[in-house]
Amino acid sequence: MMIKEISARNYFLRAFILTSALGVLLITACTNPEAVDEKDKFPQYEGTDLGLTFGEEGARIKVWSPQAESVLLKVFEDDHPDSQPFREKELAKSDRGTWEAEIGEELIGKYYSLSAKIDGTQRPEVPGPYAKAVGTNGLRGHILNPAEAVPEGWEDDASPPLGEFSDIVIYELHIRDFSIHPESGMEHKGKYLAFTEKGTTTPGDIATGIDHLREMGVTHVHLLPAFDYLSVDESRLDEPQFNWGYDPQNFNVPEGSYSTNPSDGAVRIREFKAMVKALHDAGICVVMDVVYNHTGKVEGLSFDALVPGYYYRYREDGSLSNASGCGNETASEQPMMRKFMIESLKYWVEEYHIDGFRFDLMAVHDIATMNAIEKELRSIRPDIFIYGEGWTADDSPLPENKRALKKYTYRMPGIAAFSDDIRDGLKGSWSREDSRGFVGNVSLLRESVKFGIVGATEHEWIDYDRVNNSNAPWALEPQQCIGYVSCHDNHTLFDKLTIAHPDASEDDIRKMHILAHAIVLTSQGIPFLHAGAEFMRTKGGEENSYKSPDTVNRLDWSRKAQHADVVTACRDLIALRKAHPAFRLGAAHEIRARLKFLPSDTTVIAYHIDAPESDPWSEVFVAFNGGHADKETKLPEGAWRKAWRGSGSVDDSEEISGSVSVPEKGAIIAFKKR
Ligand code: CA
Repeated sequence: MMIKEISARNYFLRAFILTSALGVLLITACTNPEAVDEKDKFPQYEGTDLGLTFGEEGARIKVWSPQAESVLLKVFEDDHPDSQPFREKELAKSDRGTWEAEIGEELIGKYYSLSAKIDGTQRPEVPGPYAKAVGTNGLRGHILNPAEAVPEGWEDDASPPLGEFSDIVIYELHIRDFSIHPESGMEHKGKYLAFTEKGTTTPGDIATGIDHLREMGVTHVHLLPAFDYLSVDESRLDEPQFNWGYDPQNFNVPEGSYSTNPSDGAVRIREFKAMVKALHDAGICVVMDVVYNHTGKVEGLSFDALVPGYYYRYREDGSLSNASGCGNETASEQPMMRKFMIESLKYWVEEYHIDGFRFDLMAVHDIATMNAIEKELRSIRPDIFIYGEGWTADDSPLPENKRALKKYTYRMPGIAAFSDDIRDGLKGSWSREDSRGFVGNVSLLRESVKFGIVGATEHEWIDYDRVNNSNAPWALEPQQCIGYVSCHDNHTLFDKLTIAHPDASEDDIRKMHILAHAIVLTSQGIPFLHAGAEFMRTKGGEENSYKSPDTVNRLDWSRKAQHADVVTACRDLIALRKAHPAFRLGAAHEIRARLKFLPSDTTVIAYHIDAPESDPWSEVFVAFNGGHADKETKLPEGAWRKAWRGSGSVDDSEEISGSVSVPEKGAIIAFKKR
């Protein structure tokens, strides 16, 4: 999410805000120590049994609510918000600010709420932050064991093996967009279960759904928020509703609107797992987009209801701070918030077999928390892949040097960040519609693209003073850099190019579109594709579609046939990347040793890779021309063969030497056989 993202958009504004934030923080620390002290006095609970736990002796519920005078458990027959409880029970005070109760066998399958009494006031009824099953709209917890809600064959589910992190190719997808188009050929439109449908096609017999994902060769599907969020009313699913889902409600529960029955807590759990299994069976890993940086609202949700004032950051005047740009921000530096995040993430890995996480507005979190998360997750899944947006959407009370910002990625060696450098370098600034990028003949952005090509690592051939959004390398290793040109935020690449180049022909747009993806997919680091970009996805020029109707957001599978050449180009580029370790060098020192930029015209970026032993090619020549005229570019010594010309694969039989003409808005990839 970057609706109001400031990073990389305006240096001066950013510098000003960060400087001001530091100032405010220093003043706060000097003048108002009490606000910090009160939270520090809360006893921290270290056990791992918060929420409902199921053991041999039955179920127990436990909640951390250190300020509470009492905590009331209500049990209901159903999840209707107006129904009355058939049982009420005070939880017993336990250690370290916790409260607990036994849940009798007869209550399994019923719904519950918790309400803390603080300062004489009974606070809102909530399922608690550790709820793992809920009813409609996530208002009440559902008393059931998630481990028993499994689809067929779940016990055999296994994540596809991952060789190296640099092998990853990410595809960012919204669950509803995937299948909701009337001609998607999928039966379970808008649902988790659509992922389980094989052999689906458009009326024109073009493969859709999971078959399409397999065909593209992506290794990781990154799902937009799939935890329970607020904005879609799960009681009215017969009406069309859409939201990206960046408004978290229950972090440990799948979103109900993507299930076939949001009322039964077991259904969404089982169907989510069925989706994961179907992707795993197709050889694809699953990444969740996690939004621990804020909640969809504050009042009435579990954090604030049970421990008011604890889980969020506040300004000096007591108002909620807003680094998320969505009205509040969580406080990852608070031990119980940090613990919550770690336990929640571990739960998704262990219960749902999730293979990676993308942290929304990661810089709202502190670096120590992100490193603790990485360490904990890596201890249970060594191949877990963690990345995030290294920026905030607005100012934060968290000191700048503690924020998990892109420029501090080197302080989080196991975590990757999105490169807005190459993104904006390729297509122009997101914030000005008429802004163009390297693929649109702006040679000034050449250095920013080169910076992306080396995966934001240190490289002697990069002039950092001329990189758009960074003035120094920020990745220690290439796997810490996510290279991309578009994502769910802002215009799709097709729309951006169309708007910024009003005079361009359809063929020009197509060439620029393919060139941008050719650069992303051959760059060092981890390439990332916005779903549908391979068929030039359009949102009809809409910029921020977070709650726009399906007609704007859905994947229009008919475009796959209309733009078959772009689909083929993206698919071939992914295949090329997978076949050639030269494009996915595993270490920064390898890039420094093997990748050299070559002299060229200013509209051209040309480089040479001395390929590693494992590559069937011994040397690789790559040249991208963002200009409007073909450019003769010198080849390194010897005889070469072309693997790619203009915007497509070519037969490798033609031998070339001396120099090569790099087509306008196009690329040449050439090689020497080993
Ligand atoms: Ca929901």
